[in-house]
Amino acid sequence: MSKPFPARSYEFTEQGDALNWIGGEFRAAIGGETLAVENPRHGRVMGRVAMSGPADVDAAVKAGLAAQKAWKTVPVRERAEVFYRLKTLLQRDVEELAWLVSHENGKTHAEGRASVEKTIECVEFGCSLGNLGAGEQLDVSRGVNCRVDHEPLGVVGGIAPFNFPLMVAMWMLPQAIVGGNAFVMKPSELVPFSSGRLALLLREAGLPDGLFNVVNGGADAVNAIADHPSIKAVGFVGSTRVGKMVYGRGAATGKTMLCLGGAKNHLMIVPDADRALTAPNVVASFTGCAGQRCMAASVLLAVGDVDGILSDIVAQASKIRMGEDMGAIISAPAEARIRGYIDDAERRGAKVVLDGRKAKGPDGGYWVGPTILDHCTLDMPCVTEEIFGPVISIVRVKTLDEAIAIENANPYGNAACIYTTSGAVANYVTSRVEAGMVGVNVGVPVPREPFGFGGWNGSKFGAGNITGYDGWRFWTRPRKVTTKWQVQTDTTWMG
Ligand code: NAD
Repeated sequence: MSKPFPARSYEFTEQGDALNWIGGEFRAAIGGETLAVENPRHGRVMGRVAMSGPADVDAAVKAGLAAQKAWKTVPVRERAEVFYRLKTLLQRDVEELAWLVSHENGKTHAEGRASVEKTIECVEFGCSLGNLGAGEQLDVSRGVNCRVDHEPLGVVGGIAPFNFPLMVAMWMLPQAIVGGNAFVMKPSELVPFSSGRLALLLREAGLPDGLFNVVNGGADAVNAIADHPSIKAVGFVGSTRVGKMVYGRGAATGKTMLCLGGAKNHLMIVPDADRALTAPNVVASFTGCAGQRCMAASVLLAVGDVDGILSDIVAQASKIRMGEDMGAIISAPAEARIRGYIDDAERRGAKVVLDGRKAKGPDGGYWVGPTILDHCTLDMPCVTEEIFGPVISIVRVKTLDEAIAIENANPYGNAACIYTTSGAVANYVTSRVEAGMVGVNVGVPVPREPFGFGGWNGSKFGAGNITGYDGWRFWTRPRKVTTKWQVQTDTTWMG
């Protein structure tokens, strides 16, 4: 786990075991359990991951409590210095990390690299907290001053999904650690390796031991984090089913919870859309990271006659090369799930205009190629459920209002997008859709820092967003100090 990852190509490479990182040392899970971790491109075992339980979480919390006593007294600007150094280290090791993320997750190298670059952007926001993290103060009446300080919570936890191994950790860490907390990270057991590298980079950047701890595992580790009385806040990113459950479980113990869930993102294309801009953008949205992104396009609402654009989408998606332009599916069960949705849609009468079921990668592993399902109806599971693969379901509608009504009826609310050359149409849609992140001619409308990331409705449980300044508010608590130093003879009781 601790050694640098040597691969600089897709050639299969082992990485040893992913141990826990607690109080500045690598440790096996106390119960000794492990699970094999596959490289999805090859379908071969890269190493084994520690499967932790409550005793491991408790050890990490104890290490966090011990380290946080001193850390909370360190000025914010000094805490932020760690992230300046981390940024430089991530830039130094960007290729190693890009290949590691690619191997553990199955992404292409380019996607792995892009995810490390986004990781660096999140670290950069953490650096800015040395300036942005100031409290607020105001003379609220004569002689009376109110001040708000952002105080640490103590030990906090983060739980991540498989699809962005390094990046999702960095959606939470900078704000939490610069905020003066100790962090217990639970990566996805499918992609545990980059968290171990991150632990060593944070140490190299000067973070005292015990402030960043990694507890590997699955549901047992998650439940132990949600239940632990000394963990004060938890950020979760993953599916809606698990997110909702973790939200309830953590909130029941009095924690502050923010759980980001799954998605079913709708794109709308109207006849005035720019053909050259729209087709490649839609293709990138539903095939990028093999569709395993919470921001991926999933339902395409074709408003009126947009057949020219649809045929461009099919033509461009059919040119995608497996293993070069598009990566692997995370696991055999995930591949079977995605194929199941395509089979089912075909049985129910959808037209498979591009069929990814026969696609194979160059090295074995788990693959589904870009798939386009046309003439889908609103009762089909491919239209209503999250597929989390490179599949787009086209629903034909006559009017924009019909498209908006379909988008708004879906229980999720992560992203929505309109393709148009009309500002009026764009404004009409952006002000009416039920989604927390909306794109105009942008199929993956991820807000860049400092704007926070987060959806609405069934895509998020809890208040606020996970990145940006919202993250600072989430991982700290406001202390209001009201001060008066002199008798004010010219004031009422309010003064
Ligand atoms: P997942 O919900 O299966 O797993 C997420 C985390 O929960 C993992 O760490 C896993 O170990 C843990 N977990 C799994 N089952 C559990 C259980 N029964 N009890 C307790 N913990 C459990 O999600 P995933 O398959 O890793 O990731 C894909 C999902 O994440 C998709 O639904 C995707 O839309 C979503 N996602 C959302 C966002 C967002 O920002 N909204 C970002 C990335 C991914």
